[in-house]
Amino acid sequence: MRRTQRRPKFAKIITIMSEVIKLKRGLDIQLVGAAEKRISVLPLAASYAVCPEDYRGVTPKLLVNVDDRVKAGGPLFFDKSDPRVMITSPVSGRVSAIRRACAEGNTFDLSGCEMYSSCEPCPMCLSALYWAGIDRLYYANTRRDAADIGFDDSFIYDQIALPPEQRSIGMEKIPDPEAQKVFERWIDKKDKVEY
Ligand SMILES: [Zn+2]
Repeated sequence: MRRTQRRPKFAKIITIMSEVIKLKRGLDIQLVGAAEKRISVLPLAASYAVCPEDYRGVTPKLLVNVDDRVKAGGPLFFDKSDPRVMITSPVSGRVSAIRRACAEGNTFDLSGCEMYSSCEPCPMCLSALYWAGIDRLYYANTRRDAADIGFDDSFIYDQIALPPEQRSIGMEKIPDPEAQKVFERWIDKKDKVEY
């Protein structure tokens, strides 16, 4: 295998994070220094996020779309199992992004949507973006940055460009007239969901 075998550097961080410090009565955490006794007024945030995960037991059903204008107190989503449970917007403004848009909107078509990602997508996720019809992707780290921490996808990107018989996974076409018939049945299928 030509993939980088380097151990990902983040493994260590996860180990450290798993060391949960349990607070007990009388435990002195030995903090160095002390907080400055000062209250400052911070500027208001330009964007707000409402996370369905913060509403335990609520299965969200969206009522807004990207670019919709919402008023403070206006509905954003409701609970599928009890539509009387309505989650409202804490501020007035414009909906700039919806995460997990396919699941929340119950659709595989994300045309008209833009996506924000911490990194340039791997070939699998890139395919998903094409299938979903995403209009634009904004990413922070490049695939080269990903390779530096042990996620080297450039190998797969290179493989896609090769003819099937030259790829490292042996690929062979087997002629079979039955296979064509399966495709013909799909064309004739009346209740199919079109992509
Ligand atoms: Zn991916």
